[in-house]
Amino acid sequence: FLEQSGRLNAGRGSKRQLDGIQRMDASLMDGATLRAGAVASIEGFVHPITVARLVMEETNHVLLVGPWASRFARHFKLERQPTRSPSRRVSYESILSRRQVDRDRHGTVGAVALDRSGTVASGASTGGINSMLPGRVGDTPLIGCGIYADNRTGAVSMTGLGEGIIRLAVARTICECLGDGKSPRVAGMIVLRQLVSRIGGAAGTLVMTPDGRFTIAHVTAHMAAGWWGGIGKPTVRGRWT
Ligand code: ASP
Repeated sequence: FLEQSGRLNAGRGSKRQLDGIQRMDASLMDGATLRAGAVASIEGFVHPITVARLVMEETNHVLLVGPWASRFARHFKLERQPTRSPSRRVSYESILSRRQVDRDRHGTVGAVALDRSGTVASGASTGGINSMLPGRVGDTPLIGCGIYADNRTGAVSMTGLGEGIIRLAVARTICECLGDGKSPRVAGMIVLRQLVSRIGGAAGTLVMTPDGRFTIAHVTAHMAAGWWGGIGKPTVRGRWT
């Protein structure tokens, strides 16, 4: 739903790389089996997260990239969207000299979930960041960086500047803190603060444990997020302190 809304930085609403093309990243992980699937730099599909799921369920691989990820999605006849912007093609020199070309769209889409059997899962789908060189890939499709899920520790999904998140392998590092006995809140904040102090990064995280504890935490000014316990209405807010 969020990928097709066009209002978030994923699927239809994805940011464009500096050559005007939307290239998207997505991933999914199952904490019971440690199976994972991901796509990077996929073009022309509304639901990269579905392609990631098909990589997980239908292949022996974890990550497909670029035209071959798109080819794989075509094979499954998934819903398409136009790939190219109407703007004319530009030279690489002009690409390198361009600055911000995007309207600022709201965030990447991420989720963590827990089922009744104690299995956690995590997923994320993004159109990347502003002013990306063509071919840039962020943290989102990298297992252990943008997402991680393990029934022995918990599930994590990240949003924020991927270049920092990759360098601290943030999702997996938060899971290690959970494994050391930290609460979701403490584990999330320890690693987010490291991201700020060591790299100058900024990010937000969703963290959930197999026994049902969770947190939504961020070191950015805002993070639009919500949670639902299965009964009644979901709680949705723009800030989680
Ligand atoms: N983490 C994403 C990326 O770097 C962007 C985001 O979360 O907004 O591609």
